Amino acid sequence: MGIVVQKYGGTSVADPERIKAVAEHVAFTRSHGNDVVVVVSAMGKTTDNLISLANQVSGTHPGRELDMLLTTGERISMALVCMALADIGIDAVSFTGSQVGIITDTVHTKAKILEVKGDRLREALAAGKVAVVAGFQGVSTDSEITTLGRGGSDTTAVALAAAVNADVCEIYTDVTGVFSADPRIVPQARKLQHLDFEEMLEMAGAGSKVLALRSVEFARNHNVPLHVRSSFTWEHGTWVLDMSAFNAQQSSKENAMEDPIISGVVHETGEAKVTVFGVADKPGISAALFEPLADANVNVDMIVQNTSKDGITDISFTVPKSDLATALKIVNAVAGELGAAGVTHDEAVAKISLVGAGMKTSPGVAAKMFRVLADADVNIEMISTSTIRVSVVVGAANTEKALRTLHTAFGLDSGQAYSAPLPERK
Ligand code: ADP
Ligand code: ASP
Ligand code: MG
Repeated sequence: MGIVVQKYGGTSVADPERIKAVAEHVAFTRSHGNDVVVVVSAMGKTTDNLISLANQVSGTHPGRELDMLLTTGERISMALVCMALADIGIDAVSFTGSQVGIITDTVHTKAKILEVKGDRLREALAAGKVAVVAGFQGVSTDSEITTLGRGGSDTTAVALAAAVNADVCEIYTDVTGVFSADPRIVPQARKLQHLDFEEMLEMAGAGSKVLALRSVEFARNHNVPLHVRSSFTWEHGTWVLDMSAFNAQQSSKENAMEDPIISGVVHETGEAKVTVFGVADKPGISAALFEPLADANVNVDMIVQNTSKDGITDISFTVPKSDLATALKIVNAVAGELGAAGVTHDEAVAKISLVGAGMKTSPGVAAKMFRVLADADVNIEMISTSTIRVSVVVGAANTEKALRTLHTAFGLDSGQAYSAPLPERK
């Protein structure tokens, strides 16, 4: 048979019962003749709790030490899963990211994978063992332990799937697949059967938490099919793959999928808006502002510059809230040097995006989105688009209303409230 990589998120390994259920499912997969690589997240809210501990002892968190702390969460899970497997007679061996040769750059807390060696993984599989790997971590080119950013276990799983040429990378989580919106907020969300890498990439980039962005980039670049599904119901979930290849394989034209105009409505509440007021509208200003942010590894997302009046303009942009303090320090310094009138920031914002491959050939999506939001009395603060995405920034208080009205207006409602269990997030 083949090699299956299975990634279990925090809720899927939240307590001893869930860990035993994971072990049973791994045994079931093995009984069908597959080699299995398991990637685990930290149990439940462990990572959040570790961050909170760090906050309680200090306001200063050197990246190296934070990574040392956070990687312990996944180590607990990997050892416990191996023990649960041993208990039902499955030979399993746990590995840290470093032990399986996940080599990253040196940027602590959001390191990028440069290479996956995977020798020990292949040896374990060749010896007939299940390999259980701690997600979210690697070792840098400076031999330091690193983490891959929140949600990074998805990336570990896909990177390992690519390294061992797995047939599929299964992402087990607490919902039954990828939905047209987060079912926790939009109960009428519908489960998507298939999704193209490009659409999933836009959804993840727009902030859909169900898959980490880097994991989807990896999957697309290495053509690793993803199957996002629930470890609570074990039912079939959503396949994320190269839809053009999938359609080409269909025997009759009728089976080929049309690109839907809109696949999903996505929200992101983890960003803050920063505005620099009264800055000169002349060459070099944007570079002076954004270069130091890039050097500090701050991920700037949407950028809007107003038309200038009397040679003076305003520039607004969004950054992850986790980078806000760093960004403000830099921006305040640069704004002073540039003679800007001032800097403000707003954390109570949300980005709402519509994503769909069919947008390429269907004009008017953005206009309809703006009309729907206007009719719902939702003010739009910023706008950005790609070929298959339209995003707006609105006040955070409008998140639910914007998501639900857009979901209905674009005909995405499933007709019934999401019914699979939505486990409480520990
Ligand atoms: P895990 O701990 O398993 O990695 P995550 O919390 O990272 O789980 O991702 C699963 C969560 O993603 C779901 O509980 C759901 O609330 C959220 N989510 C956001 N957007 C979507 C979407 N479009 N489809 C499904 N789930 C979504
Ligand atoms: N435990 C890490 C987090 O909570 C990584 C992951 O779960 O993917 O972000
Ligand atoms: Mg996740």
